[in-house]
Amino acid sequence: MTKSLRFAPEVSRGRRFDEPPHPYRNCFQRDRDRIVHSRAFRRLENKTQVFTTPLSDHFRNRLTHTIEVAQIARTVAGALGLETELVEALSLAHDVGHPPFGHAGEHVLDEQMQRFGERFDHNLHALRVVERFEQRYAAFAGLNLTFEVREGLIKHSRDYSAAHHPELAEYRLDELPPLEAQLIDPADEIAYNCADLDDAFEARLLEPEEIRGEIEAFDQGYRAAERLYPQANRFQLFNEALRRLTDYLATALIEGVREAVQEAGVETIEQVRTAPVRLARLTPEASAASKALKAFLSRRVYRSAAIERDSLEARGKIEAVFEYYLRLPEKMPRFYRERIQTEPAHRVACDYIAGMTDKYLLRRYAELYP
Ligand code: MG
Repeated sequence: MTKSLRFAPEVSRGRRFDEPPHPYRNCFQRDRDRIVHSRAFRRLENKTQVFTTPLSDHFRNRLTHTIEVAQIARTVAGALGLETELVEALSLAHDVGHPPFGHAGEHVLDEQMQRFGERFDHNLHALRVVERFEQRYAAFAGLNLTFEVREGLIKHSRDYSAAHHPELAEYRLDELPPLEAQLIDPADEIAYNCADLDDAFEARLLEPEEIRGEIEAFDQGYRAAERLYPQANRFQLFNEALRRLTDYLATALIEGVREAVQEAGVETIEQVRTAPVRLARLTPEASAASKALKAFLSRRVYRSAAIERDSLEARGKIEAVFEYYLRLPEKMPRFYRERIQTEPAHRVACDYIAGMTDKYLLRRYAELYP
């Protein structure tokens, strides 16, 4: 049923600069490869997802998180008969605009930009990265990605109004993106909810018993594993419960999209674009479970003393580095320094810092404030 809603590479609106077709890779596969070979993608390895403390080598970073999103989103898209190559390109690109130190980094840059009546938004930053900051081609700045990948980058998780963002007019802000882009946000949520449980267990912030008391789907998986493997230890049972939870949520996304498409009577990509609401969603039951999980993680993990301590420290350092370059913008590397002629220093400093890895920011901080 959803097969007719697949966004085939043949109907792409193409690239900003025309390029001859590749003999055996379609345009979305090429976009995926361009993203994988970009600097912004490689930097994800040294950007925090949630856990910054060097307590364990097993915590997700933004790169491994990205790979988990791609895997879930591809699976869901494949089961629905959608265009998996587009979904993969979008998944791999979805966090390239993320600053160092996770949400702490995002908040502090946004706060700093508000001093100048502007905002920092990681989706819009991702678009700037792939349009301007990646320097890989002699013929143009950026990666020259297809329209659909650029559109999906800004529309995958929220709606932007044309009144506030006239610069995004070409992306038809009054239209929803294709299902391939709509899938990224729920797949992201499944990936991080499950991964954050795992990392919190690894960090000894959460015990399986507490999760079982709060999250019914986790408890069901745990009980099923106990029945099947009476000899298993708690680490094995935890992992069995977690993979069942991931499977439950991914399956619920597949079923949720099918139901939503059917209920809305949607049969073409045009109808997906003009539907009153997004159609990529979990089934109602799983959606409630996912909300409960998110609230639980927020209360017990994201706002825990350990995470808050780390993010406070990170915020202070980012603020200090921002302040420094605002005062002495000529100290930025040439690529950024040159832009001060035509753009305000706060925007250039924000772009520079948003591109930094955690490690690079800490190095700059140590140098600037010895
Ligand atoms: Mg993400």
